[in-house]
Amino acid sequence: MEDTYRHKGLRRQLIDELRDKGIKDESVLTVMNLLPRHFFLESAFEELAYSDKAFPIDNDQTISQPYTVAYMTSLLEVRKKQKILEIGTGSGYQAALLGILGARVYTVERQEILFKKSKEILKNLGLPSVKCFFRDGSMGLPDFEPYDRIIVTAGIISTTIPEELKQQLAIGGIMVTPVGNSKSQKMYKIIRHDVDTFEEIATDTFRFVPFLKGVNKIN
Ligand code: SAH
Repeated sequence: MEDTYRHKGLRRQLIDELRDKGIKDESVLTVMNLLPRHFFLESAFEELAYSDKAFPIDNDQTISQPYTVAYMTSLLEVRKKQKILEIGTGSGYQAALLGILGARVYTVERQEILFKKSKEILKNLGLPSVKCFFRDGSMGLPDFEPYDRIIVTAGIISTTIPEELKQQLAIGGIMVTPVGNSKSQKMYKIIRHDVDTFEEIATDTFRFVPFLKGVNKIN
C-alpha cells in the first residue's frame, strides 16, 4: 500500500483536529502523524481513514477512534525501551504507535483472524519490537511480566480493575484501561506506587467493544 501526499495531507489535518480537541502530548501527535492509519483498514475505508472515527475491522471489532488512541497513549506516558503489554491488538494500529515510540511491545489478541492480519501488517512495517500473541488476554500475559506499561483496548465490564492485570505491572508502572458496563466505560489510569499501593484515577467516558474471555479461532 502507498502513502501518498494526499494521505499525508489528510493526516496532518487529523493531527490538527486532535490538538484542537485537547490532545497536548506532542510526542504522541508526532508518531500519529508518521504512521499511515489507512494501512490498518480495508481499502473501502481508505478515504475515511483520516476522519476522527472508529471503523469496523473483522469479526465485529473496531479500530479505535484516533482521539481515543491519542488520549490513551498520552495517559500511558511511554518512554523508550519500556516493556509494554497491550491487550486487544485488533488492527495493530495502537501497537505500531507504541513500537514507533520506541517501546518493546507484547500485544495479545483473542480473535485469530485479527491476530494473523495485524501480525502481517506489523511485519511489513518493519517493527520487530512488536511481538504478537494469539491468546486470551483476560489474565494478562504472565510469561513476560512485569510490564512498565499495560494498555487494555477493549472495555472491561466490571466494577473493579482485574487484580491479575494489576499484579503484572512493575513498581512505578502505569496501566490504562476502560472499565465500566457494556454501554460506557471510564478510562482509568492506574499507577503502581509500591508492591501493594495502587493509585486509581478515573478520567473521561468512552465506549469500547467488550473485553471477552476465551479465544475465537478461524474455522
Ligand atoms: N488496539 C486496537 C483496538 C482493537 S478493538 C487497534 O488499535 O485497532 C479491541 C480488541 O480487543 C478486539 O480486537 C478484541 O477481539 C480484543 N479483545 C477483547 N477481549 C480480549 C481478551 N480477553 N484478550 C485479547 N484480546 C481481546
